[in-house]
Amino acid sequence: MATTVHNFKVVLLGKGCVGKTSIVLRYAEDKFNNDHLSTIQASFLNKKLNIDGKRVNLAIWDTAGQEQFHALGPLYYRSSNGAIIVYDITDEDSLVKVKSWVKELRKMLGSDVSLVIVGNKTDLEKDRHVNLEEAETYASKVGALHWQTSAKRNEGIEEMFLTLIDKMLQRE
Ligand code: GDP
Ligand code: MG
Repeated sequence: MATTVHNFKVVLLGKGCVGKTSIVLRYAEDKFNNDHLSTIQASFLNKKLNIDGKRVNLAIWDTAGQEQFHALGPLYYRSSNGAIIVYDITDEDSLVKVKSWVKELRKMLGSDVSLVIVGNKTDLEKDRHVNLEEAETYASKVGALHWQTSAKRNEGIEEMFLTLIDKMLQRE
């Protein structure tokens, strides 16, 4: 009997410059770049994993910076199984943007989509402008996971993806 392959589409969302591309690059290639990476092509990345004997095929969608122009439409996140909605812990407004993405996703995709809200740049803790407890409380209120990462230091990223995959597998 052939093993089932779980195909999951995961999209990255969030304000420009919060570190979405850096998170993907770190996860997929273990690289980090100090420059803003929005000029690179819209990335579509495939990652195959084996989790407790389950074969998982992740299609990770990153933006090409269209979020700067509010030009990310439903075509981008259509039929996604998971969404990683990122804010920057030093940028209060980026959490406001998270909330509007959550609203839009819930409206368009309902409760089928697994959400993880990610506070990135924890290496800049001294410049924190987002209250951690507020972010966590908000996430649990909307049925999302909350996670903290530093793409720069490679902290929390692999764990964040694994937690999201786990949540998506539970829905299968
Ligand atoms: P995107 O527009 O959301 O895709 O953001 P990018 O991945 O292009 O990152 C924007 C800027 O934030 C770049 O200068 C990155 O080097 C920087 N950056 C991304 N992640 C981190 C992080 O964890 N810590 C710090 N200090 N800078 C980061
Ligand atoms: Mg980017």
